[in-house]
Amino acid sequence: MAILVQKFGGTSVADAEKILAAARRAIRAKNQGYQVVMVVSAMGHTTDELIALAKQITEHPPARELDMLMATGEQVSVALMAMAINSLGHDAISLAGAQLGIVTDSTFTKARIRSIDAERIRQLLNQGKIVIAAGFQGVDPAFNITTLGRGGSDTTAVALAAALQAEFCEIYTDVDGVYTTDPRIVPEARQLKRISYDEMLELASAGAAVMHNRSIEFAKRFGVPVHVRSSFSDRPGTLITSEPESVARPVCGAALARNEARVTVLGVPDRPGMVYAIFSKVAARNVAMDMIVQNMAADGRADVSFTVPRDELAHALRAAEEAARELGAEGTSYEDDVAKVSIVGLGMANQPGVAQKMFSAVAEKGINIEMISTSQIKISIVVERQYGVEALRAVHQAFALHEEVPEGELPPAGKPRPILTPEILERLRGMEDLVIEDIRLDETQSRVTLVDIPDRPGLAAKLFGQVARAGVNVDMIVQSVGREGRASITFTVPRGDLERCLQVARDFAREVGGAPPIGSWNVAKLMVAGTGMRSHSDVARRSFKALAEKGINVDMISTSEVCLNIVVDGARGQEAYQALEQEFADVRL
Ligand code: ASP
Ligand code: MG
Repeated sequence: MAILVQKFGGTSVADAEKILAAARRAIRAKNQGYQVVMVVSAMGHTTDELIALAKQITEHPPARELDMLMATGEQVSVALMAMAINSLGHDAISLAGAQLGIVTDSTFTKARIRSIDAERIRQLLNQGKIVIAAGFQGVDPAFNITTLGRGGSDTTAVALAAALQAEFCEIYTDVDGVYTTDPRIVPEARQLKRISYDEMLELASAGAAVMHNRSIEFAKRFGVPVHVRSSFSDRPGTLITSEPESVARPVCGAALARNEARVTVLGVPDRPGMVYAIFSKVAARNVAMDMIVQNMAADGRADVSFTVPRDELAHALRAAEEAARELGAEGTSYEDDVAKVSIVGLGMANQPGVAQKMFSAVAEKGINIEMISTSQIKISIVVERQYGVEALRAVHQAFALHEEVPEGELPPAGKPRPILTPEILERLRGMEDLVIEDIRLDETQSRVTLVDIPDRPGLAAKLFGQVARAGVNVDMIVQSVGREGRASITFTVPRGDLERCLQVARDFAREVGGAPPIGSWNVAKLMVAGTGMRSHSDVARRSFKALAEKGINVDMISTSEVCLNIVVDGARGQEAYQALEQEFADVRL
């Protein structure tokens, strides 16, 4: 019999009436012939209230005890849900994390799932029971109760669906599904019929909070189709699988992260290990760096800029100052009033001109782009915070994201292929371990660097417009603001197009008043792709470390949720590739 996992979030079980409504949904699924596992969050704002209560006792509650406390929220709702099902004449059993056999590591308040005992749940299902599982919690090998991090019930649900090889995992929530962007900011935003795992991961990290990111990673690893839908209606929501909504469109969604900050380490001597030194300092303070951009400098020094969530600015700045001192850099600077706008789409990888279209849309509004970073399926820009919403709207409009995708463009929704087979899982410590799916060396690209160009709205749009008109396909782009209102842009193009592209860049530099461009024919682009790259932010640190140890200098970087790109000197490409393969041998598929 097919198994269905249905997850109900806090708002969907906020009171007795809603609990009964959720119970009816599960019964309906059972009557349709499914074996049903319900995963339930704590009622309403219970978890927040429990944390507030702990804070009344002490400012720093021990993490173990906080988990013990928080886990009670879900215990209340599963018991009530089982009673509700019972009262409606069906058989149900509620189970806490430990009873479900959800074994985690011992990282209290953000534990990772190691394994699940699916047999026990199967037996209960085979007895005709609806199994009501407490979300968000597990137990470590020493029987301590753990929780999976805020919003972790999504992860419980997808993990159970994976362990039970469920046909679907339904996520019932207070929105209708996943939208092209936040409809509260852009009213014409459209609900997507479908979105791929990778796109969902990128959008979520770019600012669209729909589901717990780890749950999407879980779904991708184990090939679980996820259906995000409203608990207050019967309309279909958004299906998350390995397929995108449209095979023809380059972009599926856009997102805004309003509260970002930019930190720059100024005038760093450009030598191997420099990026690693900065990155490891920031990582040591548990700050997640996002866009990382290196400004090439003519005098052997570089500026390294990165963005962080604004509330982590103080930590990031301290780490940057430390790194600056150690590296003999000239100093640091920061800006705490920036926003990040991103576009995401599987289709952009094989369509030229997507970046330029985004830059043009923003330029037409007269908004200045302070930073740019592109990766295979995401392009992010940084603008002044006050222009964030306007830039998001302009971009949404430019890609006509509000327009429905015609039926014909929908790829067939086959069953997604799991990345982790039981044999691979055997090698790993746990279901949520990092896996590196691919490491690649691309020796087809060359690099163009423009330094000391004026920092004005519209320049990136103009430059890449001219490059596109010359018939050159740009691959990776990074830009950041330098000192005194000067910017630098570095990008890669196919080697055969370098001369033509340099000609365009020379004309551009002359026209706008910048230094002549620098071209490098022989660069190597390395790509590390995997699942869990962000939640295991160690991937970037380990990559930079591996290269630093070989004395290989890093010229360009772009990071994303599913992929890390690094450009190095072409002469060191093979060696860099070997170093990365060696570094990740233990987690390589
Ligand atoms: N109750 C937990 C929280 O509020 C878990 C969840 O809702 O997913 O974070
Ligand atoms: Mg919640």
